[in-house]
Order: sequence, then C-alpha cells, then structure tokens
Amino acid sequence: MKDGFGREIDYLRISVTDKCNLRCKYCMPQNGVDNIPHGDVLSLEELYRVVRIMEPLGIKKLRFTGGEPLVRKNLAKLIGDVNSIPGIEDIAMTTNGVLLRENLDALARAGLRRVNISLDTCDRQTFERITGYDGLERVMNAIYAASEAGMQVKLNCVPCRELNGDGIDALAQLARDKRLDVRFIELMPIGCGRSFHGIASEEILAGLKAKHGPCKEAPCERRGETARYYLFDGFLGRIGFISPMSHKFCSDCNRVRLTVEGRLKLCLHYNDGIELKPLLRGGKSDEEIRERILAAVRRKPQAHAFSEHDGSNADKRKMVQIGG
Ligand code: SAM
Ligand code: SF4
Repeated sequence: MKDGFGREIDYLRISVTDKCNLRCKYCMPQNGVDNIPHGDVLSLEELYRVVRIMEPLGIKKLRFTGGEPLVRKNLAKLIGDVNSIPGIEDIAMTTNGVLLRENLDALARAGLRRVNISLDTCDRQTFERITGYDGLERVMNAIYAASEAGMQVKLNCVPCRELNGDGIDALAQLARDKRLDVRFIELMPIGCGRSFHGIASEEILAGLKAKHGPCKEAPCERRGETARYYLFDGFLGRIGFISPMSHKFCSDCNRVRLTVEGRLKLCLHYNDGIELKPLLRGGKSDEEIRERILAAVRRKPQAHAFSEHDGSNADKRKMVQIGG
C-alpha cells in the first residue's frame, strides 16, 4: 500500500483505549479527559477485523498503544488473535509499565516480543510529580522482568525543562548497565505538551558525550525507523533519539494510526483520516472497506507542520486521546 508520495505503508499503530492510570503532566490533563461512551469504542472483535482487512494491503507491523493499553481488558487475547494472521510479522506495545509485570506471561504467550516502556525519570519523587503516582519501583520491576523474560525493551523518555531535565544522565546509565535501549523523544506541541519546553536531542547528546566520551552512530535496524541510535563505549544498550521537531522523519514515514473510536488517522499532526466505525458497523464488506482505506492512504499528508503553524486541520485533542 503506497501513499501519494510513494511511501510504503506497512505499520499500523492501534490505540486500544483513551483511558490511563497515570496523569503525565505533558500528556494528560490532571482531571482526565471526557469519557468516550462505551458504544463508541471499537470492540476487540472490530479491532481484529481492521487488522484482518489491512493485512492484505501490506500491514506487517502492529503497535498497541493508548492511553494506557494495559487498562484495556483482554488485550492479550487480541494480541494472540492478530499474531495468528500470517502476514503480521511484528507486534509491539507502548506502555507506562504500571500493569506490565502481572500481564507479562500472558502477553508473551500471545506473541508480544517487543515493549517500549515510558520512563521519564529514575527519581521516585520526580516520577510521582510527573505522573501523579508513586510507582517508580513498580515500573522498574516491570522493566527488569520484561528484559529477563527475553523481550526487547526500549525505554522512552520525553525530556522537559520543567519536569525532568536534570535526570537525563541517570536514565542514560540504565543503557550502560542493562541490555536495553534508552530513547529520548522530543516533546511535540500536542495537547498538554504545549505547556512545557522540550529539550532538543542535540543538547542531550552533547551532554552525554561530555559525560561518557565519544560515541558511534549505530546502523539503522529497520525501514521507517524513527530513532537514531548511538553506541557509547562500555554501554550494554543503545542511546536513541526520536527527534520529530529537530529532524523531521516524515519522508520515511511508513505508518497510519487507528484511534480508539475507529478513525484511521493518516498523520499524528492532522485531523485527516477516515472513520472506519460506520463502515465496520454499517454492513460494508471487507473488500469495500479495503478500497476506502486505500483511497484514504493516498491522501496521507507529506509531513507534519508542528513547528510552522497550527493549521485549522490540526488535531486539537490530547495525546492520550489521539493515541501516542
Ligand atoms: N501510556 C503509554 C505510555 O505512556 O507509554 C502509551 C501512550 S503514551 C501517549 C505514548 C508515548 O507518547 C509516551 O512515551 C509518552 O511519553 C509520549 N508522549 C505523550 N505526549 C507527548 C508529546 N506531547 N510529545 C512527545 N511525546 C509524547
Ligand atoms: Fe498515560 Fe502514557 Fe499519557 Fe502518561 S504518557 S498520561 S502513561 S498515556
């Protein structure tokens, strides 16, 4: 499946809920977001059907996200079901890790091999200040358990001047001591993120070089990889940077996103997309829906415009609602 700019789209990010058990200041309003009526949320069967419809179009890679994906009941069942679709080669999840440890066995049995865990600090009080929950130890235990269970673990940190800017090196040291990647993601001006100041990747890399010496750029692992990785001497894992603000990677974009209400979003920044729910519930055949998806994907925007303007068709919702 190619978009209008010749980019091959083989990656679907699925938001399974807009609910979350944390309140990260840059992502979620402190009193939460309005509840989506239960009937407006795609069922697990509908999510499965969307994957079945999109796999013949060339979708090979899935990522489950949210909100917090692990607050959605029976997610492991959905993962097991999509894992049995022959063309699906890679299933990953982005989670805050709070509920990961108790779900780890079921997720691994279902076919989950890779997990990105959000961790913005190694300091207990800062963790509570950012997320509203005294849960650092619980998340650290989940990180170690996932790693020991043989999952590929990547940690995601969004550095913000006001929140965690002084704890970057402590996070980087996790990649020195453990076989896991630590990635720094530039804050995007989405929802609550507009109230904070992100720290550019170059500044963080310069700080880490000053502390740990020079590093080598690691080879790119897969097409559409959004992170640039670096290897520091003596580190077991890699340090990664996802830099949507300072190094746009839109020309290699290979993804579309499914929101919890069934909108297939073509780009994180824009509202443009196609509402799949009325098609799924309106008696359309798989083939008809496939045609509609193909036509929509051809309209995928060329690039985000976070830095340039806040256009009228920008998605105005919070990250937790869009699906991160
Ligand atoms: N709850 C899960 C988690 O925290 O990993 C999955 C959803 S969360 C929205 C996905 C990722 O988006 C997290 O790593 C979070 O730090 C990141 N994120 C949230 N708001 C952001 C923003 N404005 N800019 C960049 N990343 C953001
Ligand atoms: Fe929840 Fe993830 Fe947003 Fe934090 S970043 S509030 S864990 S959805």
